[in-house]
Amino acid sequence: MSIDFKSACEDKEYLDFLQELVNNEMIENEAAIGITKMIIDGRVNESTEKQWYTFEKYVANEHIVENCQRCQESIPWCEMLEALDNGGYCNYCVHMMSKEGC
Ligand SMILES: [Zn+2]
Repeated sequence: MSIDFKSACEDKEYLDFLQELVNNEMIENEAAIGITKMIIDGRVNESTEKQWYTFEKYVANEHIVENCQRCQESIPWCEMLEALDNGGYCNYCVHMMSKEGC
């Protein structure tokens, strides 16, 4: 895994994305939800090693599309929720594919 989620947790866009995951009840693990809320609160540094592991396992690594399936570009956090929903494509490719009709 090439993504450093610790630094992502200092990125407002990633925290917004985590908030969306919570709002949409996309996190199934009860403990992980609590830890995610703590991280959204900006308290990532207070998480224990075990909490961080839980977060990475059930939240971070579960809800990510690293690269677009079509153009291989990395997907920005603000498009991540849609990418998870549409099978792993960036907004640009979704737009292109709808234009091409395939
Ligand atoms: Zn793409």
